[in-house]
Amino acid sequence: MAQAPFTLLLGGTAEASVLARRLRTTRPDIQLLLSLAGRTKAPALPEGVETRIGGFGGVDGLVLFIRERGVTRLLDATHPYAVGMSRNAGEATRLAGIPRATFLRAPWETVDRDRWQEVACLRTARDALPSGARPFLALGSQHIAPFRHRPDLRPVLRQVDAPAEPLPFAATLVTGKPSEDIAEEAALFREHGITHLVCRNSGGARGYAKIAAARKMRMPVILIRRPPEPDGPILRDLDAALSWLISSS
Ligand code: NAP
Repeated sequence: MAQAPFTLLLGGTAEASVLARRLRTTRPDIQLLLSLAGRTKAPALPEGVETRIGGFGGVDGLVLFIRERGVTRLLDATHPYAVGMSRNAGEATRLAGIPRATFLRAPWETVDRDRWQEVACLRTARDALPSGARPFLALGSQHIAPFRHRPDLRPVLRQVDAPAEPLPFAATLVTGKPSEDIAEEAALFREHGITHLVCRNSGGARGYAKIAAARKMRMPVILIRRPPEPDGPILRDLDAALSWLISSS
């Protein structure tokens, strides 16, 4: 007898939650499990969607999870920079012999007024900052360590939750989600006397206001380039991702 379709959706992005809601509404017959890493204290969970939180324990743990739970396909809708999880998902689904695809939102594109410097990694972002700069580091807590080697900087960090551990260097901390309002982001930059924005090219609407605010203020942006795309099918919009989920069942 054919196995009932059971989708494991790797999330941590706004799009994963939207997809979960849309699949729930259009195909309530497809069993769906949304998985989150558990990085934020109070994630916005889509209503009516079964959710699990926490790592799987590497490739082996994920293979075991897939087999034990009878997962029949996996959609990786993690953040474009969540390379470890995406690599594990590729390897685990290959070993378990189930289909997997990746949803990847489009990167932000530079426009005329932008003063972007694209760099390869966090260390090159750190080294690109001039002495005495006051950068706004729109980076998760696990990505700030390289900046401890630049005591001449006066960084401002924005993190969704207050960090559990003391910061690894002196910095001003702003907690909370980024605003989607350009004027609010610009006001925050002005309030803190920010000279540079340092961030990833995440793409999507949620984090775009800071990019637009920097453009408006003619502020230099140091943008960490995207990692290489995972192998396998890449779905670049929500409709394509939803179709893949439905057609591969
Ligand atoms: P990562 O380095 O690729 O993942 C590290 C480990 O976290 C993975 O090996 C896995 O642990 C666990 N993990 C990650 N995503 C998971 C998921 N959806 N469900 C269960 N376990 C997961 O990723 P990261 O950069 O730390 O990001 C962690 C999460 O935050 C991701 O889900 C991502 O979508 C979200 N996020 C990341 C960013 C960013 O800038 N990187 C921004 C916004 C949101 P095990 O090996 O134990 O399975």
